[in-house]
Amino acid sequence: MDFTMKEEHTLMAQTARKIAKDFPPDYWYEKDEKGEFAEEFWKAIADAGFLGIVVPEEYGGSGLGLTELYLVIKELCEGGTGMAGNWYICLTEVFGAIPIVKYGTEKQKEKYLPGIVRGELEFCMALTEPNAGTNTFRTETFARREGDKFIVNGTKIFISGADRAKGMLLITRTKRLDEVEKKTDGLTLFLVDLPNDAVKVSPIPKHGINYSKTCEVAIEDLELTEDDILGGPENLHKGWYHLLHVLDPERLVFTAASIGIGKLAINTAVEYSKQRKVFSDPIGAYQSLQHPLAEAYATLCCAELMGFKAAWLFDTGAHYREIGAVANMAKAVAVEAAFRAVYWAMQTHGGYGYAKEYHVERWWREINLVRLAPVTQQMAWNYIGEHVLGMPKSYR
Ligand SMILES: Cc1cc2nc3c(=O)[nH]c(=O)nc-3n(C[C@H](O)[C@H](O)[C@H](O)COP(=O)(O)OP(=O)(O)OC[C@H]3O[C@@H](n4cnc5c(N)ncnc54)[C@H](O)[C@@H]3O)c2cc1C
Repeated sequence: MDFTMKEEHTLMAQTARKIAKDFPPDYWYEKDEKGEFAEEFWKAIADAGFLGIVVPEEYGGSGLGLTELYLVIKELCEGGTGMAGNWYICLTEVFGAIPIVKYGTEKQKEKYLPGIVRGELEFCMALTEPNAGTNTFRTETFARREGDKFIVNGTKIFISGADRAKGMLLITRTKRLDEVEKKTDGLTLFLVDLPNDAVKVSPIPKHGINYSKTCEVAIEDLELTEDDILGGPENLHKGWYHLLHVLDPERLVFTAASIGIGKLAINTAVEYSKQRKVFSDPIGAYQSLQHPLAEAYATLCCAELMGFKAAWLFDTGAHYREIGAVANMAKAVAVEAAFRAVYWAMQTHGGYGYAKEYHVERWWREINLVRLAPVTQQMAWNYIGEHVLGMPKSYR
């Protein structure tokens, strides 16, 4: 086993760190407070080629894999961006580029990929629904066939970036749940151009990550064609396995974000703890602060390696169950460690940890999300219990 970084990886990591330095925590404090999209940062990551890491060179990308995407995101987040270093890249590259590269028709690749790479075409994914939540099989958004068209109706909830996106990966049912023998059957993924009069987007005020809007998306009589199905007509009803190819990378980039946020919070706390003196020694000398920070750091480093393993499995075409197992373990462990890291960074800062200008409270709001999304911790543990340990399934 060789843990040496390749030269191209070192260079990518350095570029990511430089960008993170150009967009430091104070920048994100302001963007979060104002609820503004970070246009300058978006341009910087597009110019660096980070929106096209997984896109083949013929469409303007770098032709690399999830390993590189994972590395870049971790470096951006740890370098000072916090969640922002993952968020925008995830919405456009994971929800847009990854499924199109893997399953898209030639026409879809030509239509979307070059624009994604250049930062001209933001993407979003509309999966979650009010009545389905974690249980995607209960998706109610229905694409009804009418001649050579599909008429889509339904409501999606918590769709990040839908207010700005020009492309949307839309998860529908084309056979109702009670019509199928296997519940994985009858799900179809469409690529939808936005804005569209049949798609009403309403932002939902939220706890954190306010440099991006998360929205309710109401779809009424949206007309699509067979050519809008991801991968074309032969993929009708077969969306479930294609969706997994998006959800595992999504877990992975959120693993990278968690590790990045956790380490960023720890590094910030360590610096603060060396300066701050209220008794005889700097507070960093106290083991009550040192040990939990050290424990969180060590766990983050372990989770980081597991994340690289999951990315490698993905890049080398492993079975989806194998990728799912490692990706869920990496995500669940990374989040818990990052949670402890940010918590102890806040403790280390005392009252200042609660003040916005010290940034830790923003990272606290950001890391809170990763316990809930992209997959809840409970569902990640369920996956491990069921598919890794072979324990009985507790729900239907
Ligand atoms: C800020 C934000 C951004 C988001 N962005 C997007 C996006 O861009 N696109 C998108 O499609 N979705 C997005 N989501 C949705 C997110 O993925 C879901 O909120 C998440 O998957 C959980 O679904 P839910 O909220 O319906 O919770 P529920 O499914 O209602 O779950 C509620 C609780 O019950 C628990 N639970 C449910 N079933 C089980 C079980 N079988 N065993 C044990 N516990 C269980 C869960 O773990 C959870 O704790 C976003 C959410 C947020 C908050």
